[in-house]
Amino acid sequence: MRVIFFGPPGSGKGTQAKLVADKYNITHISTGHILREKLNDEDELSIKLRDIMSSGNLVVDDILNKIIAQKLLNNECKSGFILDGFPRTIPQSEFLLSFLKTKNIDINFIFDFKIDFKVVEKRILIRSKQEKRSDDNLDVIKTRLDKYMEETHPVSKFFREKYSSNYFTIDADQKISQIQKELIKVLKKGEN
Ligand code: AMP
Repeated sequence: MRVIFFGPPGSGKGTQAKLVADKYNITHISTGHILREKLNDEDELSIKLRDIMSSGNLVVDDILNKIIAQKLLNNECKSGFILDGFPRTIPQSEFLLSFLKTKNIDINFIFDFKIDFKVVEKRILIRSKQEKRSDDNLDVIKTRLDKYMEETHPVSKFFREKYSSNYFTIDADQKISQIQKELIKVLKKGEN
């Protein structure tokens, strides 16, 4: 099973991706998480990444495309994967689709998490206290949401047009357990 989750930061897609990945024994690929791990390398690249990420801007497509290609070629992705945070731009989407085509695989489900940005701002401020992420403060959140509208919202539209019958909208302003139920209901139907 191969799945993409779209949604603004703070929409809960990471939490849901983890739960679905565990349930179906597939690999959760969070590009935000992979990049945060790279920050520990303390090399030239990590300094650049830290600057970009802590300002709420997007890391260049080339770096992301390389990370994803490496990940998808890995054995752990053979039984399936959930992409959480990628693709975030049109060039990343084009790269992903052409990469998957060369491997003769396709995406089975796309979920688009919808939520009011005011709710997101509140949620991220709470998360900032728990996870101490440098990009979880009000100014940076605004940049991240702007970037989402400018760069990633057109991407979800691109996929909705291309994959209309595999594309599902999720009301992300609900309890974790309710959202999980809705996701599983769709995924189960797809198994039949
Ligand atoms: P996230 O945890 O998904 O919100 O990602 C945290 C930060 O990592 C983002 O604000 C970006 O700076 C960077 N990032 C993660 N995924 C991508 C991507 N697909 N393209 C560009 N930058 C990304």
